[in-house]
Amino acid sequence: MSTRTTFQPVLERIAEEIERTPGSGRPADYIPALAACDPRRFGMAVAEPDGTVYGVGDWREPFSAQSITKVFTLALDLSREGDALWEHVGREPSGNAFNSLVQLEYENGIPRNPFINAGALVVTDRLHTRTSDAAGELLAFLRAESGNPELTYDEEVAASETAHGDRNAALGHFMASYGNIDNPVPVLLEQYFRQCSVAASCADLALATGFLARHGIRADGTRLLSRSQAKQVNAVMLTCGTYDAAGEFAYRVGLPGKSGVGGGIIAVVPGHCTLCVWSPGLDERGNSVAGVAALDRFTTLTGLSVF
Ligand code: GLU
Repeated sequence: MSTRTTFQPVLERIAEEIERTPGSGRPADYIPALAACDPRRFGMAVAEPDGTVYGVGDWREPFSAQSITKVFTLALDLSREGDALWEHVGREPSGNAFNSLVQLEYENGIPRNPFINAGALVVTDRLHTRTSDAAGELLAFLRAESGNPELTYDEEVAASETAHGDRNAALGHFMASYGNIDNPVPVLLEQYFRQCSVAASCADLALATGFLARHGIRADGTRLLSRSQAKQVNAVMLTCGTYDAAGEFAYRVGLPGKSGVGGGIIAVVPGHCTLCVWSPGLDERGNSVAGVAALDRFTTLTGLSVF
């Protein structure tokens, strides 16, 4: 039996169920470029380790990847500096909002994990020191892994992030005061906002996440992460990847996942496949309502979960 007969019907069934469920959730409204998204949009893609990709709904439509990109910058930096990174950022769930400042003071400017904004700023800073172009490095990686040379930044979103960037600027300066940021904060923020503004489709992001299902191997067969590092990134996604709702996500979905305020969520079934779902209506924690529901149905219907 080909895998097509395994994944396509399940995706179509999920899309029908989602369409029948009245939409709930609201698009992110901290920047106008995201607030304008239609919360009823829905797309979902599954990529197999060999690069075969299946999808339904708006699965080829680019959307704002936002915090999903934190997974890729983490992997790119870990591949260069290895465990030294963990001296600068922790790997415990935070229990606070993604843009919270509160833990930084009593933890000496070391953020809780790489997926809250403070931690992602540290990772981007360190990647920028090593590559001189963290956002460019990210873009090149996403293009190569997705096979989509047109994948790029959304300039409107990048400008909007910059115009509304006070909280991230505060996080950057606060950590710099503890010596945990190398680059000038304005340089770091420019890189970070470009990173957040990447626009990519469910197909692109499911394919780009493939290295985590292939235990660290990139689409071209070269190794990005050791098997052990790939396991570590998956573990941090499971425990910290969906803001302060990672426990609920693990309970419902049972997969390593990473969400973004654009309404996307990527998820990994190690050794089997990667997924990306997009629907802009968010719950109060910042996770896509239809996205979590769709992943919940996927693991229930297929039995593919890490548990
Ligand atoms: N650009 C957003 C911020 O840094 C990313 C938020 C997210 O997707 O979690 O505030």
